[in-house]
Amino acid sequence: MSNDLFAVKELIQYNTKFVIVSHQSPDGDAIGSSTGLYRILSNLNKTVSIVLPDRPSSVLEPFLEGSDFHFYHENPADCETLLENAEVLFALDFNTSSRVGDSLKPTLDSFKGKKVMIDHHQNPDSFAYVLISDTENTSTCQLVYETIERMELLHAFDVKAAKSIYLGMMTDTGSFRYPSVTSNTHRILTKLLELGVRPFEIHESVFDHNRIDQLQLRGYAISQKLELSDSFPFAFITLSEEELGRFNYQTGDTEGLVNVILSIEGIQVGVLVSEKGGDIKMSFRSKNHYFVNEYAQRYFNGGGHKYAAGGRTKLTLEETVVLLRSTYHEIFKS
Ligand code: 5GP
Ligand code: MN
Repeated sequence: MSNDLFAVKELIQYNTKFVIVSHQSPDGDAIGSSTGLYRILSNLNKTVSIVLPDRPSSVLEPFLEGSDFHFYHENPADCETLLENAEVLFALDFNTSSRVGDSLKPTLDSFKGKKVMIDHHQNPDSFAYVLISDTENTSTCQLVYETIERMELLHAFDVKAAKSIYLGMMTDTGSFRYPSVTSNTHRILTKLLELGVRPFEIHESVFDHNRIDQLQLRGYAISQKLELSDSFPFAFITLSEEELGRFNYQTGDTEGLVNVILSIEGIQVGVLVSEKGGDIKMSFRSKNHYFVNEYAQRYFNGGGHKYAAGGRTKLTLEETVVLLRSTYHEIFKS
């Protein structure tokens, strides 16, 4: 066992109060890794809480059931008390403390106990006492599984933990189809199925609960709002707050829309630009030898992975599109 894993194992062994924190707009990997680790630590008789900056989309909420979870933007005082009292904090599925949002960041930064970061994003900050980083990994969920396995704590797994880990591995790999998927991914999936996970149940609960509004928003975006580049294998969609409102937008409704752009024959880079809560949120996806994380970082205060990145601007939607149109050619420089 490496020194880092030994240190984490000792932290688990010799402490009782744990808090798990993940990123803003928590996705399947954030919810899966948080609830999976929650369950494992609970099975080891630890006191555990999950603190999330805000709510996930409604399809992910059932995965929180049975754990002690708190949303900072709904109940900051409770969350602050939990962080004050915890001895060890696990930071899952984010690489820098700003990913928890401006309001929770100061509390996370000033945490007095030991911080352990488990993450698969590039360029992790060194804000943790122990950093378990694997930027080639499919997901934080898979990395949590591997970490528990290497610490020889697999006996703490049960079907509920396995379902959580499956969730994040599924959502972060586009249902096991991205290049990050390896034989080791499938070896771990086998173990999860042996623990009692029934894959169809998780696929169905995440992907087959669309509202008509949500599907019509998607239809509108593809038929009316898709802009294809004349010179590059590039396309993007913009959605204003007014347009989202027309289809009764709820958190998560545009999930996966950027991947639809990338599924167009010949397209190598896709971007979704949406106006949410006054801010502009960007989602970038790419393929083959085109990478979007550095571009997202340079122009849109973002980052992420080579093939999947995000960003945010305080510009107007129109100004953001002007910036995008005048810079996207840089992604295609060899
Ligand atoms: P999504 O498009 O699904 O929101 O994000 C894609 C990837 O980019 C995710 O892995 C996410 O962690 C990362 N990402 C999204 N938004 C941001 C951001 O504002 N800053 C950074 N550094 N990464 C982001
Ligand atoms: Mn992830």
